[in-house]
Amino acid sequence: MRAAITRYEAAHEAMGTEFTLVAYGDDPQHLTAVGNEVFDEIDRLEDQMSIYKPKSELSVINRTAASKSVCVEPKLFELLVNAVDHSQSTAGAFDVTAGPLMKAWGFFRGKGHVPANSEITQVLRRVGHRHVHLNRAERTIRFDVEGIELDLGAIGKGYAVDRAVDILRRCGVTRALVSSGTSSLYALGAPPGARGWSISLRNPYDSEKAANVIYLLNCSLSTSGNYEKFFKQGAKTYAHILNPSTGKPVENMLAAIVLARCACDADALSTAFFVMGVERSQEYLATRRDLMALFYLPRSGGQGFRRVMLRSFCSNGIGAFFPRTRQRKSRATGAGTSVTLPAAFPAGGEQHGRTIHHYGIKKTAVAPG
Ligand code: ADP
Ligand code: MG
Repeated sequence: MRAAITRYEAAHEAMGTEFTLVAYGDDPQHLTAVGNEVFDEIDRLEDQMSIYKPKSELSVINRTAASKSVCVEPKLFELLVNAVDHSQSTAGAFDVTAGPLMKAWGFFRGKGHVPANSEITQVLRRVGHRHVHLNRAERTIRFDVEGIELDLGAIGKGYAVDRAVDILRRCGVTRALVSSGTSSLYALGAPPGARGWSISLRNPYDSEKAANVIYLLNCSLSTSGNYEKFFKQGAKTYAHILNPSTGKPVENMLAAIVLARCACDADALSTAFFVMGVERSQEYLATRRDLMALFYLPRSGGQGFRRVMLRSFCSNGIGAFFPRTRQRKSRATGAGTSVTLPAAFPAGGEQHGRTIHHYGIKKTAVAPG
């Protein structure tokens, strides 16, 4: 007789957000043990990568790599290589050295304030991935100017999700959903009897409403939204994603959502695409594979928002599909094509008898499914 399938669900505070894990299996004790291992690993990664912890390996690198080469732990070195690659391939839209800019705008611990233009000009001298030199043979890092500070805020949570998925796979778990709060998630396999994990994406103007529902199977998704961290000064709102070429927060973008084969890439690219906007992202995607992007853009006149979906020139490896609707034909196909999705796209609730996993929507971080 086959053992009954049980559902395991747990949440854990780390990296300034709440990680969640939902997993199915036939041994509840095994699932609990695996869940504990996952959260222990996430805590270990936070201790290593946090810029809020003076003793973390990343803080040590930031303090010393301008004066001498610093040897880096192998896995962290791999992540830094990946972060520098993303910085180069997005022409610095994602830039791993954005740390000093975050501080200038008061997003690091502080309350947020608009710096003088002269200060931005000064700070920009200490920003730029070209100042970061990685020596693969010796596994060392060196900065070529004083004051460079690496910030893994736009890639670290996705990376942690990938490490969690490695543990799940190694431990024989085949159906799980891991998320790093509202940043990134990975959908491993599918819940019993389902085609994929159903994920709802929050409405950029209302944290209690969904904007889209998407099903994921062995696929990762990340969002970068202007509603996550911001401050207001005068009549203007300033969000926490900065354009490293201007030194200023990005405007005219509500959210960039990226689907990729791993959460590390999805996380870095959602930030990059947020900065790059639709056209530059489209150019990027035209030469890549296995990526999809969804943008929520403000409408001129201020009412509602516009959806634009893009695909890389080949995206067969992406296990993402939308619920069957009358608008299904409007899905984007082909090389870097863009299609504006209709507002009538399904927005949460019950779909085909399955509960949607509300992602980034308050109150129901992960609903039973
Ligand atoms: P979330 O933190 O919600 O996952 P993102 O993945 O978009 O959101 O990451 C935003 C964070 O990344 C910021 O809080 C900051 O630490 C850092 N950051 C901001 N702008 C950039 C940028 N252009 N490139 C790289 N990192 C950035
Ligand atoms: Mg990101």
